[in-house]
Amino acid sequence: MTTKKRNSPLSGKVQTVLGPIEPSELGVTMTHEHLLVHGLCYMRNPEEATLRAYEHAPVTADKLGDQSKLFWNSRDNFTLYDEKFAVAEALKYKHAGGQSLVDTTSRRGTGRDPLGLARISRATGLNIVMGGSYYVLLSYPPGFDKKPEDEIYHEIVTDITEGADGGVRSGIIGEVGNFYPLTANERKVLRASARAAAATGAPITIHPAPHDDSHYEIINILAKSGADPKRVVMGHLDFTLCSHRPALKRLAEMGCFLEFDTFGWENTTLSVAYPGLTMVSDVQRIEAIEFLIAGGHLDQILVAQDICQKWMTTRYGGKGYAHILTNIVPRLRKRGWTQQQLDAVLIHNPARALTFA
Ligand SMILES: [Zn+2]
Repeated sequence: MTTKKRNSPLSGKVQTVLGPIEPSELGVTMTHEHLLVHGLCYMRNPEEATLRAYEHAPVTADKLGDQSKLFWNSRDNFTLYDEKFAVAEALKYKHAGGQSLVDTTSRRGTGRDPLGLARISRATGLNIVMGGSYYVLLSYPPGFDKKPEDEIYHEIVTDITEGADGGVRSGIIGEVGNFYPLTANERKVLRASARAAAATGAPITIHPAPHDDSHYEIINILAKSGADPKRVVMGHLDFTLCSHRPALKRLAEMGCFLEFDTFGWENTTLSVAYPGLTMVSDVQRIEAIEFLIAGGHLDQILVAQDICQKWMTTRYGGKGYAHILTNIVPRLRKRGWTQQQLDAVLIHNPARALTFA
């Protein structure tokens, strides 16, 4: 097992799909989105005929009210394949003031498209940072049990240093997906990701399980394998720890970035189909963030919308990539947030989180 010592030419830079840039060039940044992606690993293929009817049917307006059924059972809903569609949706974010975003689609099993992301970046003028490593175990390629940790490590490092398709390079490791309790394969991916971070200076972004202990265990595994917890983005806190203040505080004290990345997902029916998942509202997200800021953790907060299904996009009646800028920021101002606090969350924290060590 080898982990090369870091001596990265990327140190102090952010790596986008069009090449390295200065962190100060990022501006307003959403740190967890998907422009081209599929979530087909989550397809439920239910027994019930009326649910199976969703499998091959297109997403249409009459189905948008049935989000708990659409969410798990519709192939069309699980796919964002159309590049022109992605450009149109991303431009709404740009027109609202967005300058950069992270596409956290992992390297295999969820449709990552390096050249597609590069084209979208050129077409929109947005800086796009591409993900790497592996998502949840449902998306692993066949034979993953036998895949050596070293091979995964080298894949992640190569994505960052030499690039994936067409030489397009990853600028962040993840989203690394996890369920709870962690399996041997998930631990293997976490160790390989941490070693790749130590070798390249790249940040890591994590998709934890909705279980308190998941977060701490993941941070500990990453730290033991050489990653700096302060350079880890812990994602999805909105539906894992949002309503559990002591657990949130404990995680914040571990020093990682704290990402509330499903702003706009306010449909509580999603919890019906996934027991244990608590889908909160944007107000609850804001209150959790304000709790963390009161505890001195402003500099760790990141936000995003994790757009990954059709119903979340504006074309299908969703709130889209501009939701935080158009709907949440004005609410934060009304709640008394200062410009300095807004800039920290939208500009300065993402810049620090995405800068290579
Ligand atoms: Zn995601």
